[in-house]
Amino acid sequence: MDVNVRYCKKYWLKVLTILLYSGLVGTDFIRLSVEIANNVFESSDGLDVPVVATIVNYKTLQYRSFSNSVYKDFDPTAHAEIIAIRETCKENNTTYLDDYDLYVTLEPCVMCAAAISYARIRRVYFGAYDVKSGGVIHGPKVFESTSIHHKPEVIGGIHEKMCESLISGFFKNLRKKD
Ligand SMILES: [Zn+2]
Repeated sequence: MDVNVRYCKKYWLKVLTILLYSGLVGTDFIRLSVEIANNVFESSDGLDVPVVATIVNYKTLQYRSFSNSVYKDFDPTAHAEIIAIRETCKENNTTYLDDYDLYVTLEPCVMCAAAISYARIRRVYFGAYDVKSGGVIHGPKVFESTSIHHKPEVIGGIHEKMCESLISGFFKNLRKKD
């Protein structure tokens, strides 16, 4: 789902965004992703895990957010990160996203981590750790594999509690429906 395309036209806003962005870890893009995930979660049929990825061009500060839509689209590859990469490549007529950083509410899985590497994304920021299905810090630790040609910088655990409660709220709700 494409929910946001924005460019900071006002100078002061741009300066502020650059300061935020070049500061610690640009935590506001994770916060933004959580807010979008909450909205998606409330308006969806409740089957898709609320995971949102915000892809940011760190040179122009343009960004777009996408949410996981596996069940909605009947597509097992429709993870938020994959959609973000696919749409951004298409929009820019490129297969490489060297000028982009990705902010995602949950640790990327194996499939997404591999796609992030293929797309040559500069940096990955994520919120909650995924002990069961994560592929970056947990599981196969894709970026540490010798068969991976591009290894992005990874910063995990941003607004971790906020991102965790998003996921735990979802599963609690799902169990209630059973
Ligand atoms: Zn994934």
